[in-house]
Amino acid sequence: MCGIFGVTDDRNASRLAFIGLFTLQHRGQESAGIVADDGSRLVPYSAMGLVNEIFSKDVLDSLAGHAAIGHIRYSTAGSSDIKNAQPLFFNSALGPLAVAHNGNLTNAARLRADLQRSGAIFQSTADSEIIVHLMARRRGRTLEDTIARNLPLLEGSYSFLFMTPGGMIAVRDPNGFRPLVLGRLGRSHLFSSETCAIDVVGGKTIREIEPGEMVVVRKGAVRSRRFSRPAPLTRCIFEQVYFARPDSVVAGRTVQLTRNEIGAMLAREMKGVKADIVSGVPDSGTAYALGFAGASGIPYQAVFMRNHYTGRSFIQPDQTLREFTAQLKLAPIGGVIEGKSIILIDDSLVRGTTSRKIIASLKRAGARNVHMAIASPAIVSPCYYGIDTPTKEELIANDLTPERIRAYIGADGLHYLSLGSLITACGGGTDRGFCSGCFTGRYPAGRNVKRAK
Ligand code: AMP
Repeated sequence: MCGIFGVTDDRNASRLAFIGLFTLQHRGQESAGIVADDGSRLVPYSAMGLVNEIFSKDVLDSLAGHAAIGHIRYSTAGSSDIKNAQPLFFNSALGPLAVAHNGNLTNAARLRADLQRSGAIFQSTADSEIIVHLMARRRGRTLEDTIARNLPLLEGSYSFLFMTPGGMIAVRDPNGFRPLVLGRLGRSHLFSSETCAIDVVGGKTIREIEPGEMVVVRKGAVRSRRFSRPAPLTRCIFEQVYFARPDSVVAGRTVQLTRNEIGAMLAREMKGVKADIVSGVPDSGTAYALGFAGASGIPYQAVFMRNHYTGRSFIQPDQTLREFTAQLKLAPIGGVIEGKSIILIDDSLVRGTTSRKIIASLKRAGARNVHMAIASPAIVSPCYYGIDTPTKEELIANDLTPERIRAYIGADGLHYLSLGSLITACGGGTDRGFCSGCFTGRYPAGRNVKRAK
């Protein structure tokens, strides 16, 4: 998963992009980059690490210009390479061009092989680079036409920002897998993966970019055109379950409220389960637990202190330090746990390792029993559209029954939310509108999809 942010028509564009990326940091912590447009040139800067560590005052000063796009990349094993940091930047027959991508192209391996056979030399291993090679080979009358001609060759998920001197183009794939919203701030237009970043820079969200839509901003004016008829909308339901920040609006509703509603649904499905307190695994579990408490009458209580400074890349240099990782990240609050029967909510169960560790730590702290509640159905199949889920074999629900999973994680009970309740709580109508391939193994786009990276 990644995050993208774009700003037009503001002389502080790269500073606003920095604030936007900083707000979207939860979507990726491996690398970050900004490309600024000074009207005639594009100036790129990207590095490995967190937004706040990369962009010093000097770096931001060097990114002068009236427009900028930025990208943050999600850390997945083996792909930690500065070559894959985005926005990608090219000087080609198309002129200077920068590209930022959130998504995953399911036909990337085939397209890349075809392009390489015909002479393309790739700078990175990122699937995102493919669109630029396609564009260099199949040109249209204008840059927009060139992009519109080539996007239909891509399969899978993509929200893209393209920038050239004087122009910015935003597109969202025909299924709308990944989010992308349009906002305004004074004279400037903003594009963002999530509305929370538009709020933080002081802007106003106008609307989502529609599936199959291309939005072009040039000389302060915004235009919209379609590059594809929209396929049935299948937005990723995991955005609301886990990825999006609670203060973002997704599918017309603040994510915190959606998660409260999901918690209430869980409470209804688990009517027979008694407990002294209900709690959530921080951070995402908290909103679910509050919703559960409201619907069930079981009081909410925080049972873990989360250390916000460990980050995702907590270095584990030796066995002695490694042993402290779990307690360091989530420390049980002993006094509220001892002797209690607890319903504990987490957003998802993937390999089961997190639940196993935290239930053991609650039991060590004196919990009488722990009933685990998961705010989504069992994950039985990988994601091909950009969420970092492991292979099918590593997914615990792929080969263990719920009863055996319960025993493995050491819980006294285990309940998964039903898919119907999840879709209803996320705002799905009769046409449903969500991709739930990870819960069902049924994928809406790209037949015979293979993991592209
Ligand atoms: P696991 O320990 O493998 O069962 O993973 C479940 C935990 O990982 C839950 O606490 C989730 O909040 C978190 N999680 C779920 N999906 C992802 C993801 N794509 N990337 C990182 N963490 C995730």
